[in-house]
Amino acid sequence: MTLSTIDLMTKIHRDIDILECAIARIDLCRRDALHICQIFYALGSFLNQLQLVSSNWAAQYQDFTLDIEIEYALSLDEEAEEMRDSRKKVICTCLDGLKELILNKIKDSKNTLLECLNFSDPDVSDIATLLDAQWLMCPKCTDAWESVSPRPMVICPKCKRLLQNPRVCQRMAN
Ligand SMILES: [Zn+2]
Repeated sequence: MTLSTIDLMTKIHRDIDILECAIARIDLCRRDALHICQIFYALGSFLNQLQLVSSNWAAQYQDFTLDIEIEYALSLDEEAEEMRDSRKKVICTCLDGLKELILNKIKDSKNTLLECLNFSDPDVSDIATLLDAQWLMCPKCTDAWESVSPRPMVICPKCKRLLQNPRVCQRMAN
């Protein structure tokens, strides 16, 4: 079954939201504002909620989270402070690696979103409202945003709705 553009974009937006939550947790951990054992469950749960990840990407994510858990468990048994510190350093390296993996995924997802905008979707009847040379408005949530996009489709930054680009519609009608 192939996804419609709207369904695909909804799933991508949801995945990006989850990935950004994961980044926020990792950043808190790196600043010692969140204890490492408080993110094990969250990291596993984020992965389970993602809908558009390859098995290869998921395996890399799991490798990092597993390494973090193992290093943490081992650090609890270390008696020497320098050994605990060295385990902590490994945990930080894994957290940074995981963050990098997630950031790359977010970048890929955003690129896929942009590709979706390159083709006019006949299933989408809503057209963004043309306010002036630089601004568009969403007919659904009335949020206005600056856009001079030449792509046939635009996304409302607020409600994430997929809309026809009025500038391109006009050009095609003329
Ligand atoms: Zn909107």
